[in-house]
Amino acid sequence: MQQINKKPRKRKGIMMAVLSLFVLTGLYGALEYGKGNQVQHAKTTEKENRPLDLAATDDGEPEPIDVEREAGTEVEPVEQQGGKQPEQQVSTEQKPDKKPPAEPSKKPPEQPAGEKPQPSVPIKQPEVEKRPDPQGTKQTGQQVAYLTFDDGPTPFTPQILDLLKAADVKATFFLLSGQIERYPDVAKRIVAEGHAVGLHGVTHVASKIYRSPQTVLQEMDTCNDVLQKITGVRTDLIRVPFGSYPHLTLPYREAIAHSGYQLWDWNVDSTDSSALSVPSDQIYRQVIEQVTHLKHSPVILFHDKKTTSEALPGILQQLQAKGYGMHRLSSDLPPVTFWN
Ligand SMILES: [Zn+2]
Repeated sequence: MQQINKKPRKRKGIMMAVLSLFVLTGLYGALEYGKGNQVQHAKTTEKENRPLDLAATDDGEPEPIDVEREAGTEVEPVEQQGGKQPEQQVSTEQKPDKKPPAEPSKKPPEQPAGEKPQPSVPIKQPEVEKRPDPQGTKQTGQQVAYLTFDDGPTPFTPQILDLLKAADVKATFFLLSGQIERYPDVAKRIVAEGHAVGLHGVTHVASKIYRSPQTVLQEMDTCNDVLQKITGVRTDLIRVPFGSYPHLTLPYREAIAHSGYQLWDWNVDSTDSSALSVPSDQIYRQVIEQVTHLKHSPVILFHDKKTTSEALPGILQQLQAKGYGMHRLSSDLPPVTFWN
C-alpha cells in the first residue's frame, strides 16, 4: 500500500517540475519580447524629439532648466516599463515631450561661436531674422529703418546730426554717462532735434558692467540720472556694451525685464567699430549689403566716429532710394534682441 501510494506522489512531483519549467520559460520569453519592444520605442521617440530639440536650442539659455525637470521625469517611466508589455506603448509615447533633455548638451557648441564679447553680428543675425518683424510698415506704410549710434556724444556727433537733419530723418543715440558730461551741449542738441536717446551705461568695460545683473542696472540708472540732469529727459531704452550676447544670461535678462528698461540689440552691423578707423566705403558696403539681405526692418548699429559720418551721406541716400523711411526707436516697438 505504501509503495503504491508513493508512486503517484513522485509522478505529481515530476509533473509539477515540468510545468514550472514551462511556465518559467514562457515568462522569460515574454520578458525578452518586452525588452525588444522597449528599445524600438525608445529609438522612435528620439527621432520624434529632434524637431523639438532644435526649437529649444533656438531659444538659447532658458532651456537647461526645462531639461533638468524633464530628465527627472524620464527616468521613472523607463524603470516601470521593465516587465509590463501592454502599457509600454503608452508610456513611451509620453516620453517624446520629455526627451529634449538630450539637447541642451548640443547647445554648448553654439556658444563658442559667440564667445567673444565683440559686436560680431554674423552669428546673431540668423536668430534675429527668425522672429517676425512687427515694425516693418507700421508708421508710414513704407519700409522703416532704424539708425542707432552708440558711445556718444563725441566730437563727430555734430557732423552726424547735421547729416540727419539735412536728410530729414530721425535716429537713436545710445549714450555713455561720461560722454554726456563731456559734451553736454551735443547731448542737448540730440534731444532738441527730436532724436531718441537711450542708455549705454557708464564704464563700457565688460568685466565691470557684467559683474552681476545689479551692476548692469546700476550703470543704466546712473546714466539715466546724468542724462536727466543735463538734458532734462529720461529714457527707458537701453543697449548694453558689446550687445546682449553672450553676457546677458537669463538672470540678467530677467532683472532687466523687471526693471522696466527696454533692451535693444541690432540686426545690421556697420562694422564701424571693428577697427580703430574703418574705411567709410567698407561701412557703406556693409550696411547696404546687410540691409539688402534682411527680411525685417533694419536696426543698424553705428558709432559716433569720423569715418561713420563720412559714410553716412551715401547710406542715407541709398536707403531712401530703396524706399526706407528712417525713424527713431521708441518703447512701443517690440525690441530686436539677440535672444528672441
Ligand atoms: Zn558701445
